[in-house]
Amino acid sequence: MGITTDIAEQLTTKPQSGVASGGNGPDLPVLAVVVPCLNEELLVAQTAQRLIDFMQTLVDATRIDDNSFVYFVDDGSSDSTWKIIEDLNRRNRRVKGLKLARNVGTQNALLAGLLGVKDRVDCVVTIDADLQQDEQVIETFLEKYRQGVHIVYGVRRRNDAAWLKRFTSWFFYNMLELMGARIIKHHSEYRLVSRKALEAIAQYPEYNLFLRGIFVDIGYRSESVAFDVRRRSAGRSKHGLRKLASLAFDGITSFSVVPLRIVTGFGLLIFLFSGIMTLFYLYEKFMGRTPPGWAGTVIPIYFLGGVQIMFLGLVGEYIGKIYKEVKARPRFIKDEELF
Ligand code: UDP
Ligand code: MG
Repeated sequence: MGITTDIAEQLTTKPQSGVASGGNGPDLPVLAVVVPCLNEELLVAQTAQRLIDFMQTLVDATRIDDNSFVYFVDDGSSDSTWKIIEDLNRRNRRVKGLKLARNVGTQNALLAGLLGVKDRVDCVVTIDADLQQDEQVIETFLEKYRQGVHIVYGVRRRNDAAWLKRFTSWFFYNMLELMGARIIKHHSEYRLVSRKALEAIAQYPEYNLFLRGIFVDIGYRSESVAFDVRRRSAGRSKHGLRKLASLAFDGITSFSVVPLRIVTGFGLLIFLFSGIMTLFYLYEKFMGRTPPGWAGTVIPIYFLGGVQIMFLGLVGEYIGKIYKEVKARPRFIKDEELF
């Protein structure tokens, strides 16, 4: 009985590599390149061409299976991005696409892409539509994958972005580290993920998703590969300061309760301090000296008021997160899919 089920299982489970093989080799991995797009009409065609060309060289060099493809995720664009993707899909078998019903932000768009291709591939690379990351490095990613690495992180070698962006990213990584969130420094969303790691990702149901933290959290074998950042060739960055700040805040609060602990510690300190002050005032009164009047009363009121409101806000942030998790709404809604 046991043996027969084992055999039946072996017959039904797909091999680790070559999920959809039958292309240019039996054991070559099927690769999907997932590209999130928000209003990228100026770039998407050019990006598709470059990725397809590069993919062809990888196929010709027998590095990947011929069924490998590029998967564009349209994150609720209001321009003609989706029209262009549809058109590319009609003309090239390697171009596939997913249209989300509305803008859900890069994190969730990437998740939609990863989960969308999960059952069709052996490994996935995520890359930005502006190809600011050097796509040639994917070859090194694949080499690591062949050696059994499940998550390959692309790490920026040199960053010649505007100083404000450089500063915010420096601040972001150091804050995260300080708060005890485990992340890979100078790694954004450029990475290769094996199918096994995708299966693991599918088990994280959280609404407040911070992919960079989650991949570290899985614990599978991982390595980093350095790459050079290029400038955006057309269009504007879709990540304004506000989006970046909110990403940083989400990163910290979804992976660390250190801020809450700081609040508790700070509250304790103020409590001790006001205890000492009370004793001091009682002593002064007892000695018959006139208590220091207005300033001594009003300043602590303002100070404590401020501290309390600030920390209430912080606690509220976490409660807001819990609220969203409890509702467990879908993290993205698929509108259309092209395969
Ligand atoms: N993006 C997205 N949804 C958003 C914002 C951005 O899918 O809400 C995509 C965008 O189209 C691009 C990638 O995320 O492919 C990175 O964004 P961008 O290049 O604008 O930001 P930056 O490189 O400045 O961080
Ligand atoms: Mg960019």
